[in-house]
Amino acid sequence: MQKGTLYIVATPIGNLEDITLRAIRILREVGLIAAEDTRRTRILLDAYGIDTSLTSLHDRNELKKSAHLITRLNDGTDIAYVSDAGTPGISDPGYVFVKQAIAEDIRVVPIPGPVAAVAALNVSGLPMDSFVFFAFLPSRSGKRRHLLESVRGETKTMVFYESPNRLVSTLKDIGEILGDRQIAVSRELTKIYEETLRGSVGEVIESLQGKKVKGEITLVVSGAATTRPGVSPEEIRTRFQEARKDPASSTRDIIDTLSEETDMPRKEIYRHVIDFIQEESDNGSY
Ligand code: SAM
Repeated sequence: MQKGTLYIVATPIGNLEDITLRAIRILREVGLIAAEDTRRTRILLDAYGIDTSLTSLHDRNELKKSAHLITRLNDGTDIAYVSDAGTPGISDPGYVFVKQAIAEDIRVVPIPGPVAAVAALNVSGLPMDSFVFFAFLPSRSGKRRHLLESVRGETKTMVFYESPNRLVSTLKDIGEILGDRQIAVSRELTKIYEETLRGSVGEVIESLQGKKVKGEITLVVSGAATTRPGVSPEEIRTRFQEARKDPASSTRDIIDTLSEETDMPRKEIYRHVIDFIQEESDNGSY
């Protein structure tokens, strides 16, 4: 008998329209949907007129329930797994189920869609070509500070999930340990009260003064500066401005040359150059 397929299906992180056509079809066609919270998933299924049977698989029963569902898959039933919101396994259950399915030689198929971390990166205004995702920071200040100490040298943009109650104390820890970095705090993405606060840690803390933070929060923090001593952003700007006087040089050529001369990655020079051009355009001089 042919085994069933396990589909790992991403669902909206707020706005019910953020679901793919394929996800809707798969949820409709499978024999069973395993969900982190069946009541919550029922709301989504009702919105799309899907009446597939539901069963629960959450972090407290994942080991046992996965084993049971593997039997169903081995018997030929196609199963979709959905978590409460976004992509299963990302700060959500799913990993154990996928691992067990792979061990049983069951086909596992992703049905990609929303991830809060990626949505927040998209609107952060911080480099998003590569990033490090840390999921939730430890809730206790001691452990949180310890983790932050360990990432002080991280040069990639960092993304954290955070509870609204802890946001301000986490930001204070970040300010003290990582410095007054540029950050973006995204709240309630894709929902009615969606907002993103951008600025330095100090500026964002100030803008939150006296306010009660509510809703789901994703925090994006810029990586540590990688500019080597002697090749400061100001120096790159000066060299860029100088090189630009030659009308035969394109921005791309200048970036290539600066990258060679400074031994800095092209990507990093490009970022600085984009910042300068943006500043000039904001000041009306470009
Ligand atoms: N699996 C989900 C994903 O793919 O993003 C993450 C689940 S995790 C249990 C929930 C956390 O994700 C929230 O506490 C918050 O930090 C973040 N999050 C989820 N939805 C969000 C939203 N609409 N706006 C901002 N952050 C969100």
